[in-house]
Amino acid sequence: MTTRSEEPLLTVETPEMSESGADPGGVPGARQEPAAGSVRPPTEVAMTVRDLSAWYGQRRAVREISLDINARAITAIIGPSGSGKSTLLRCLDRMHEVVPGARSSGQVLYQGVDIYDPMIEPAAVRRTIGMVFQQPNPFPTMTIYDNVAAPARFNGVVKGKAAEDDLVQRCLTRAALWNEVKDKLRHGGTSLSGGQQQRLCIARALALEPKVLLMDEPCSALDPVATLQVEELMSHLKADYTIVIVTHNMQQASRVSDATAFLTMGEDRAGYLVEVGPTSEIFTSPKQQLTEDYISGRFG
Ligand code: ADP
Repeated sequence: MTTRSEEPLLTVETPEMSESGADPGGVPGARQEPAAGSVRPPTEVAMTVRDLSAWYGQRRAVREISLDINARAITAIIGPSGSGKSTLLRCLDRMHEVVPGARSSGQVLYQGVDIYDPMIEPAAVRRTIGMVFQQPNPFPTMTIYDNVAAPARFNGVVKGKAAEDDLVQRCLTRAALWNEVKDKLRHGGTSLSGGQQQRLCIARALALEPKVLLMDEPCSALDPVATLQVEELMSHLKADYTIVIVTHNMQQASRVSDATAFLTMGEDRAGYLVEVGPTSEIFTSPKQQLTEDYISGRFG
């Protein structure tokens, strides 16, 4: 893989760019490339959420959440069912807005770029910020090979058979699946076990060269062995990717994550952030009584 920090961030598509390939320039919030020879300071915070609220129709599901998400770390979002964890996650790659009647307010910044800026393409956001779902969902009619290669081919990430072969091998290796499938790449993706299918979906997400991986209860459909394999994989991936995981499993949050955000529901039934901090602190000495009550199993 190439050095991730050297790659362009969200591609800002403008009419000039589409027609002539010209640099858009002057786009509010878009990152400026550093001058040749200048040293870019290390970025610790990958994403910043500011005053984020989300609605389904008239009903607010998430209320005024603000938090920073550290780069190359795993942030867990925990909280009772219905507290808006998945909704918050889907706001981080603009998938919330595809639900009919759904909307959000506030800001989500990725390395300083507002992903909701009208100049930013939602498709570019979703390439940079990939999503892995609760149920492994390989494309049912595609081979293992094509499950990884096809989206990358469609998005222009690779051209040509040799580049595709290389990408498929790299992504399956990164997803800790290569050794198990290298002799059956032409078999259907759904012929694999549940845990293998989930790692295939992770390989498929990696093939689009994201910087952030959002995982919505990625292990809830898996057995304990497959769960540990995915957890181990996440721990390796965080060297290169920023990972945000929604989990209802507090042992999992405490095992894998570096930071934990605890959400619960307010009187208006909208989810709000009670506290966020290093996982070791949230699980041993939370600042809020509500967090203490939740992690000690007194509610939720
Ligand atoms: P969690 O992930 O914490 O269980 P969700 O984000 O899934 O919570 O849901 C938060 C609230 O939003 C719930 O009351 C849920 O019923 C509602 N909700 C979630 N998805 C939709 C949807 N597609 N349409 C309408 N309401 C939804």
